[in-house]
Amino acid sequence: MRKYTRSITLEEATDVVVVGSGPAGLAAAIAAARSGATVRLVEQYGFLGGNLTGGLVGPCMTSFSLDGKVQLIRGIFDEFVRRMESLGGAVHPSQTVSGSPYSGFMTFGHEAVTPFDPEVAKRVSMEMALEAGVELLLHSMVVDTVVEDGAVTGIVVAHKGGMSYVPAAVTIDASGDGDVAARGGASFQYGRDSDGGVQPMTLFFRIRDVDDEAVSRYQAEHPEERFPFESIVERAHDSGTYSLPRRGVQLFKTLEPGVWRVNTTRVTGVDGTNVHDLTMAEVVARQQVVQLMEFFHHELPGMENCRLLDTAGTIGVRETRRIDGEYAITLEDLTEGRPFEDVIAVAGYPVDIHSPTSINGPFDDGVPPTANVYEIPYRALVPAQLDGLIMAGRCISGSHEALAAIRVMPPAFAIGEAAGIAAARAVADRRAPRHIDVTDLQERLLRSGAYLGERMSTPDPLITTRS
Ligand SMILES: Cc1cc2nc3c(=O)[nH]c(=O)nc-3n(C[C@H](O)[C@H](O)[C@H](O)COP(=O)(O)OP(=O)(O)OC[C@H]3O[C@@H](n4cnc5c(N)ncnc54)[C@H](O)[C@@H]3O)c2cc1C
Repeated sequence: MRKYTRSITLEEATDVVVVGSGPAGLAAAIAAARSGATVRLVEQYGFLGGNLTGGLVGPCMTSFSLDGKVQLIRGIFDEFVRRMESLGGAVHPSQTVSGSPYSGFMTFGHEAVTPFDPEVAKRVSMEMALEAGVELLLHSMVVDTVVEDGAVTGIVVAHKGGMSYVPAAVTIDASGDGDVAARGGASFQYGRDSDGGVQPMTLFFRIRDVDDEAVSRYQAEHPEERFPFESIVERAHDSGTYSLPRRGVQLFKTLEPGVWRVNTTRVTGVDGTNVHDLTMAEVVARQQVVQLMEFFHHELPGMENCRLLDTAGTIGVRETRRIDGEYAITLEDLTEGRPFEDVIAVAGYPVDIHSPTSINGPFDDGVPPTANVYEIPYRALVPAQLDGLIMAGRCISGSHEALAAIRVMPPAFAIGEAAGIAAARAVADRRAPRHIDVTDLQERLLRSGAYLGERMSTPDPLITTRS
């Protein structure tokens, strides 16, 4: 270790700075700006969206209750989807069913997913942020956190011009990894209780020139397969012909004929907060893409002539730090659908754990099903130790199992929206985020189109429900 001291430039202060523009940060920045705060959104890449765009991750998993009947995640998420839909870039979740090509032929938990075009997502996310008045700071990576008297007062970013100090009254950490909180000294949990193992990384890629009908025909003829092409993958494993990283091929049809997203590379035992692990994981996953393409050509019906369309700009990291909050969400909170006085979002996606050590998962680890609807409390967004900071997205406080459900993109949008409104209120009322009026936050969320469950809402004829 070496001590390093240097003067750095100072950016103008804003009320709120949001770190990370994935589903959580995007919604947080829009919501905070719409609530009257001056907002700066800091992102290491040159576009917005995080995994939604740069990670090529999709479809958005369900925004409905587990039974697929009631749309739970509305507000900014629904607005975002409908704007993409109006540009021909998405199918609204109310129009998709489980077991279909859009849901990757999966049934459990895969009712009402949202297929979308990542380029349209890039366009709509930037338009919505700019329209709300969010100031963007792209190509800027947060490298340090400034804490004064126990409160985060700003962040240090590195960029082509060097380094800058970016001050703000409230910071929202939507970096996925809890970078701001961790650098500010917040305590956190990492991995599962038994051995600290985290979910594997996956590099998404897309393929084109797929014979869609042949793929669907094969799946229809093999309803016993939990993952597409599972028996072919198993034979390849047993014969030693191919060494494949997963139990089956997890693939999702996109809006374009012949184009599918593939969620099948897998790198285990790597830490998404360690640059050497990230580097190694990119190398390994990109080698796996080459092997998988060969396997597809030779072994999979409908894939004989497919071609690689693109790989994601970055490997996808499913799990790293979970920052200790005023409340840590437990698996039982989700399985029992426990009510919280400070509910700020509801969701219905089940616990989705890709094994930290093997080719298994998701949904084959014996974790009980979640309730049809479960609640997310505001206290899980408030770091236990630091003031001036709100967490949003997959780094909020909860167990390995609980976060494996909440981590998907629709809940991240809903949590982000709540974090954004909370940050704006904290600034307006001159209170620490942990001391804001949560009833007022809930009323503001409801007024801006969010849904907080039956208990908190009056019946709304516009709610999207399905029989
Ligand atoms: C392989 C994989 C498959 C998945 N499959 C699905 C799926 O099919 N459907 C689904 O709904 N969800 C899926 N998920 C889950 C989902 O994509 C993420 O959990 C979700 O995107 C989390 O949102 P977020 O906003 O918290 O973080 P992210 O989407 O990760 O966004 C974080 C943002 O912060 C930026 N950032 C990070 N650190 C810094 C820093 N220090 N400085 C500046 N910027 C920074 C990043 O560049 C990024 O833009 C998957 C995830 C992975 C990894």
